[in-house]
Amino acid sequence: MSRSYLHRHIGTNDADQTAMAEAIGVGADRRRALERVMDAAVPAVIRPGGAFAPGALPETGASEAEALAELRALAARNRVLSPMIGLGYSDTITPPVIQRGVLENPSWYTAYTPYQPEISQGRLEALLNFQTMVGDLTGLPVANASMLDEATAAVEGMLVARRASKSTSNVFLVDADALPQTKAVLAVRAEALGIVLHETPYDPSAPAAPDAFGALIQYPGASGRIWDPRDAIAAVQARGGLAVVAADLVALTLIASPGSLGADIVVGSTQRFGVPLGFGGPHAGCLAVRAGLERQLPGRLVGVSVDAEGALAYRLALQTREQHIRREKATSNICTAQVLLAVMASMYAVYHGPEGLFRIASEINAKANSLWARIEATGAQVVHRSFFDTLTVRVPGAAGDVIAEAHERGVQLHLVDADTVSLSVGEATTRDDLASVAAAFHAVATATRPAFVGEFRSIPEALQRQDAFLTHPVFHAHRSETAMMRYLRALADKDYALDRGMIPLGSCTMKLNAAAAMTAISWPEFGRIHPLAPSEDVAGYLALIAELETWLAELTGYDAVSLQPNAGSQGELAGLLAIREWHRSRGELRRDVCLIPSSAHGTNAASAVLAGMRVVVVATAEGGDVDLEDLRAKITEHADSLAALMITYPSTHGVYEADVKDITAAVHSAGGQVYIDGANLNALVGHSRFGDLGGDVSHLNLHKTFAIPHGGGGPGVGPVAAKAHLAPFLPTAERPVSAAPHGSAGILPITWAYIRMMGRAGLTDATSAAVLAANYVAARLRDHYPVLYTGERGLVAHECILDLRPLREETGITVDDVAKRLIDYGFHAPTMSFPVPGTLMVEPTESEDLGELDRFVEAMIAIHDEARRVGAGEWPADDNPLVNAPHTAACAVATQWPHPYSRELAVYPAGNSAGKYWPPVRRVDQAYGDRHLVCACPPIEAFADAGSVAG
Ligand SMILES: *Cc1c(COP(=O)(O)O)cnc(C)c1O
Repeated sequence: MSRSYLHRHIGTNDADQTAMAEAIGVGADRRRALERVMDAAVPAVIRPGGAFAPGALPETGASEAEALAELRALAARNRVLSPMIGLGYSDTITPPVIQRGVLENPSWYTAYTPYQPEISQGRLEALLNFQTMVGDLTGLPVANASMLDEATAAVEGMLVARRASKSTSNVFLVDADALPQTKAVLAVRAEALGIVLHETPYDPSAPAAPDAFGALIQYPGASGRIWDPRDAIAAVQARGGLAVVAADLVALTLIASPGSLGADIVVGSTQRFGVPLGFGGPHAGCLAVRAGLERQLPGRLVGVSVDAEGALAYRLALQTREQHIRREKATSNICTAQVLLAVMASMYAVYHGPEGLFRIASEINAKANSLWARIEATGAQVVHRSFFDTLTVRVPGAAGDVIAEAHERGVQLHLVDADTVSLSVGEATTRDDLASVAAAFHAVATATRPAFVGEFRSIPEALQRQDAFLTHPVFHAHRSETAMMRYLRALADKDYALDRGMIPLGSCTMKLNAAAAMTAISWPEFGRIHPLAPSEDVAGYLALIAELETWLAELTGYDAVSLQPNAGSQGELAGLLAIREWHRSRGELRRDVCLIPSSAHGTNAASAVLAGMRVVVVATAEGGDVDLEDLRAKITEHADSLAALMITYPSTHGVYEADVKDITAAVHSAGGQVYIDGANLNALVGHSRFGDLGGDVSHLNLHKTFAIPHGGGGPGVGPVAAKAHLAPFLPTAERPVSAAPHGSAGILPITWAYIRMMGRAGLTDATSAAVLAANYVAARLRDHYPVLYTGERGLVAHECILDLRPLREETGITVDDVAKRLIDYGFHAPTMSFPVPGTLMVEPTESEDLGELDRFVEAMIAIHDEARRVGAGEWPADDNPLVNAPHTAACAVATQWPHPYSRELAVYPAGNSAGKYWPPVRRVDQAYGDRHLVCACPPIEAFADAGSVAG
């Protein structure tokens, strides 16, 4: 029999685990080490007496080959037709060099969010290219490094408008010709915030729109119409509002940019830049703003700064102000974004360049024009004569027949109503597809009108784009596949991802993302599926989704799951909106207070505000637990208005709180609901369930617990799971929190494969192994760095907080110094200063082997030693291997070596290792970059000049 996946997934073997259990002092009886550690670490009150009831979840895992065979069978139940449904999703071609070099390359997909800039220069450069591309195409100066999708980007655009507008109106105008999913998401989000949406048809005959703080204008419209939005933009601005334009970035290579037409904000999707449809996602949305609004931008923004030697270096700008970190004062809850997809989209632009994008857009437009002529020839009427890629066609009474006929011929079109069909041409649309569509219209032609002959220019002269875009050299230098392959490799080489070593980031669960689990997402049966494809064509997807929902419900003790939210933050919002709706359904309109412990993740408070709730902070007690006394006081104080308590379990302090059931009961008896943040589920799976602890609703992070890779900062999936009473209020296609009905469905096969290959027993062992590893690290480091919080028996859960404040007191060495010095030792730093300033939070996960755990422990001990030498005066406080870290190869070979420690110690502190990771830059100056905000690709000369900047 082939060795099971479980033994590939869990890094430690039985003998390692026995030794580790001994090291942490959980005795040596005859039971397995994994059982002993869980018995000691997990309070009995939260563990069920017996095993879970037998359910749908397989007990033991399938082998990799078996799981892939089952996925093949599911894939075979999806039908890959030519998707011409449009509505913001286009049939695109992923250049194979990008598919292999990025999507299927662990150097890209296993990286973490680039908070540590020194080890992230490659992906930061790719994201800066993305920002430059979005900025150029939209005609606005500042773009962020991706939104979750177009619909949520429109929401963020609306919120920026509301903050920046001088208008006192609470009305936001929405183009009647906006994408339906954008309208639906806006409606859900506006309602929670008391914003009134007013739909308006932007045509000359429409009555004047009311006063508004902003307007969303779709350009081109969902119907395909290209029109000149200048007057509409000016009209909303004249009354103090901001104009948000939702644009198609490929169309913008041919038509005038919204920025040039006066737009304040532009949103959109970059899916059609070579990112597979994936039944709706993941894709990178985008958001760009005019000058003056850059400090209002939600999400992540890459900026240019310098390193300690004055060399140009990239890093996340305004990092300390990243929106969600501001908690209840935050304006956005976006945390995980769509980095991997933004990288793919930017590389598509790098590979094709401006002339390639122009050619692709022209071909799309030419195909649409040819179809226009052929359809008009059948007697059917195309509604708009100005269009880019989308045609809306009137076929009175025959729309269903046309669609059926086209489907028969292998093409999916969109039914607008019984009399109207719309269709959209993509890069991948073939001549055969065009012929099939034409034939479908012919088959139902009722009248004949004279055929149109000759060239028809479907883009009005006045709206043709005149200005250049993508002029930066990076969009001109990588035209051959060889050059492109090397560019991708060169950037990946600058970065530290899981393919180099451990990333012990607390709260992030950087575990193995198995190659077998990743395989299926590249198959066209999962990749080339439009989110609005008819259900008969997506039976495999629907079966996979249903099964995954069942499994996750069972693992969490809930009754219903929605996979729609495309990040943890969005799951939080969806869960809180469900609580809000439930209260309202019972007539309890006054319940709007959300209690949140002070140690909570920043997204919690931000999500609560976006769900229309008031945040009340609950104190943390001495030992790190929720302060029960303060909680009871706050419950009493807000009894009439209590909507919810939001807690994380185990807590963000990495501890299983024994009184969680008392906490949830207290909230329930006051009429409140309990939201349990599931980001730490890796400490519970198979051992305890949120639903059994008193949770009413939770989000999970499939990109943490369930093995979807982090992608350098996204994609994610943040399913929301709830008890039956909240189930009617979970997101649906009609009341959505993200654009696509099933969110980022394209990556669900990863989690499906992970659970299938682990089985219930394997998942349970993985949890135990993760808890064992965290306790092992804590035990070995405890003498050097105090472990800040532990549970009743001195043990932690799946992560531990190391207190570095005493070290700083003693030696002056900071958390930052230790984090940067870890780079010299070949590690990614743990989570810094969350949830407690001056600490490091370490989460090793179950996937690291004992050798790697020991390497980390020894590096931390060696760094402690170095700090002590600074404290003892052996090295000056301002010139030692810690404050100077990280060290580059360039600095090590420089003629001058003015430091009181050796070059060897600088770059090979743990001895000369073959796998040495060389950071490309010295420590990055964060403050400099914030003072000089540059968020697009710097000119080449800047690299030469930079040396003199820091001085
Ligand atoms: C990661 C995390 C979140 C947010 O999840 P995203 O997917 O990044 O939006 C929320 N809470 C906690 C405790 C987390 O660790």
